[in-house]
Amino acid sequence: MTQESILNVAVNVPLSRLFDYLPPAGNSRVQAGARVLIPFGRRDVVGLVVGVSDTSGIPFPQIKRAHAVLDDKPLLSDEALWLIRFTSDYYHHPIGEVAAAALPALLRKGRALHPRVEFIAISDTGSNADIELLAKRAPKQAELLTVLADAAGNGIDVEALTEALPNWRRVAKPLLQKGLVTRFEGRADNKDPVHDLVPAAGPKLNDEQQAAVTAVRTASGFAAFLLDGVTGSGKTEVYLHLIEDVLDNNDQVLVLVPEIGLTPQLVSRFRSRLGLEPALLHSGLSDLERLSAWRRARSGEARLVVGTRSAVFTPLPNAKLIIVDEEHDHSFKQQEGLRYSARDLAIARANHSAIPIVLGTATPTLEMLKHCGDENYTHLLLPRRAGGARPPVMRIIDVSRTPTEDSLSDVLTKAITEHLSNNGQVLLFLNRRGFAPTLICPACGHVAECRRCDSRMTVHARAQQLRCHHCADARPLDDTCSECGSAVRLLGAGTERLEEALIRRLPGRTIKRIDSDSTQRRGAIDKALSEATLGNAEILVGTQMLSKGHHFPKLTLVGVINADQGLFGTDFRSDERMAQSIVQVSGRAGRENIPGEVLIQTAFPEHPFWRRLIDGGYAGVSADALEERAATHWPPYSHLALIRAAAHKRVDAHAFLNTAKRLSEEVSITDVRLLGPVDAVMARKAGRYRAQLLLQTGDRKALHALLRQLRPALESEPAVRRVRWSIDVDPIELF
Ligand code: ADP
Ligand code: ZN
Ligand code: ZN
Repeated sequence: MTQESILNVAVNVPLSRLFDYLPPAGNSRVQAGARVLIPFGRRDVVGLVVGVSDTSGIPFPQIKRAHAVLDDKPLLSDEALWLIRFTSDYYHHPIGEVAAAALPALLRKGRALHPRVEFIAISDTGSNADIELLAKRAPKQAELLTVLADAAGNGIDVEALTEALPNWRRVAKPLLQKGLVTRFEGRADNKDPVHDLVPAAGPKLNDEQQAAVTAVRTASGFAAFLLDGVTGSGKTEVYLHLIEDVLDNNDQVLVLVPEIGLTPQLVSRFRSRLGLEPALLHSGLSDLERLSAWRRARSGEARLVVGTRSAVFTPLPNAKLIIVDEEHDHSFKQQEGLRYSARDLAIARANHSAIPIVLGTATPTLEMLKHCGDENYTHLLLPRRAGGARPPVMRIIDVSRTPTEDSLSDVLTKAITEHLSNNGQVLLFLNRRGFAPTLICPACGHVAECRRCDSRMTVHARAQQLRCHHCADARPLDDTCSECGSAVRLLGAGTERLEEALIRRLPGRTIKRIDSDSTQRRGAIDKALSEATLGNAEILVGTQMLSKGHHFPKLTLVGVINADQGLFGTDFRSDERMAQSIVQVSGRAGRENIPGEVLIQTAFPEHPFWRRLIDGGYAGVSADALEERAATHWPPYSHLALIRAAAHKRVDAHAFLNTAKRLSEEVSITDVRLLGPVDAVMARKAGRYRAQLLLQTGDRKALHALLRQLRPALESEPAVRRVRWSIDVDPIELF
């Protein structure tokens, strides 16, 4: 008897192993990269074949047969499979879950690469109907018929139709009955993007930009470039030139961005300058849209793919360049489930594919700076603003001496008025949403806390609610103390309170608040940002959201309201993070030929951080921070992995981590230090107790060797049933 091949299948379950299956009867030629439908326990599930072998650890007669192969040809190339394997190995995360994360939802669920979808089309009778006559009696029906007539016999898929005419179904009913339109099932094809764009010319590159472009152009094989340029220094122009090269050769380029919703300007600039419609991959798409963009990338048809985090997994047969914009942005790191860094995977991918990668930012992470210092990566500097704009002037306001009212010092208030009367726009940065962060009773000292977390409730005055920013808990706001009935007081200020104070003080001025509360409705963020860009909003009040790559031409003053949150942070990254957000938000000021001013309110003006920032800018702060990390052996001078556990009972979380610690010690890899377990900084969150065990090492290989043994051992521990746990390699937050 000839031995059948064995399929090594990745299944979306939290187990670090593959599952062996036989090919379906009569289909012996199954290749890695294809999906299969398999019996799994009592269910049938979709799995991904990641390997085919001759042998199995399971006795041959016990190996089950797959029901069906879902892809005639492999869905994923060897390269895409490599990335899935690499991600699973590096982050010590079950390969089936990695595969699931790497695939668009519809493919994960087993739909075809070209799923069949419902189409609506105009019939012959419909084409001959008198639409004008119909319009008098039933204008909605006439409208639908007109839309369908434009698409002629091909019809329109229902998803696209819903986008164009949300209520089409009700309108279509009588038309279907009269036979004016028909319904059929067809293959979802790539919607042909509009091609009638004419690329616009850009400015002539300055010397530094030209040097950067040349450096990347002349690289051969893998090379990583840190494009370190202040806001407005022309990084995007550098990207555009490099992208043009790739497009000219009909190859593909992948651009990773933090959040497309926050950077619509970047995408529209790509569109207008390159004269093509980028394939976009982000969370705002419907499943079909996402699949369609993914499919165009996979076939090589989409030459420019712009996406957020998970787009790093997109198969690209002709990828010749990867760009990561805003390399420092935390949204590249997924903070739940598969805790991967899209930036780091992008680098690994570029390395594997032997292509260059460009990491752009005005505030590089210390990791990247160290790589440059070690000469693994090339440091490309764009130290000046392009087009002659001057850098903003930064000043400190000592709020321990000058009085503040509603968090605004007199100096800042005066500056706001001045800038406004000179037709400038003002941005006030306060990284705290809501009205006030604390509700306290002056009589008994009671503070409103979350019932489910070790945290205070934030007052949301407009919604008349107390909300916890760490879980979804909310309750009505009461003016009186729940303990003693006295009148309560609101301490501190959030964006909502600041907005109100400004409305009171500057009557007649247009004030726009931009934070995750004010932008929840669909389209709200686009609207707010375009108002901000046009300058219709004279004062912008907002959180971190406002610090991302926006270009507000009229902005001349940035006020940082409460800069002290990061000065005494609990995390070793606090200073780096704080410098990044202040420098990023400052970069919004004075981008065109109007000089900008940045005023920073702090109660600790003597703190060395400020001198360093003002004299040396981000480069100064980061150089200091890097030295400090070297002296204290924190990353990037050591490597970390954090094992987190959460349970309804504190003892369960600790017991699990103690087991993890014991198992780690048994592995007897001595180069890894085990710190903990300890309670998390916020020990209770959403009703669960959280604790953590930190693994630290100077030797990354030792860390991986340990985790490789630890993970499967933990999976088979009985204690695992009482906890939620995770392994976080290269954590960016230690809580
Ligand atoms: P960054 O991406 O670093 O923030 P941009 O590429 O957006 O910078 O450039 C900032 C502004 O300067 C844009 O309006 C851009 O058109 C302009 N600009 C960029 N490079 C040049 C140049 N070489 N000459 C003139 N203007 C430039
Ligand atoms: Zn009280
Ligand atoms: Zn809570």
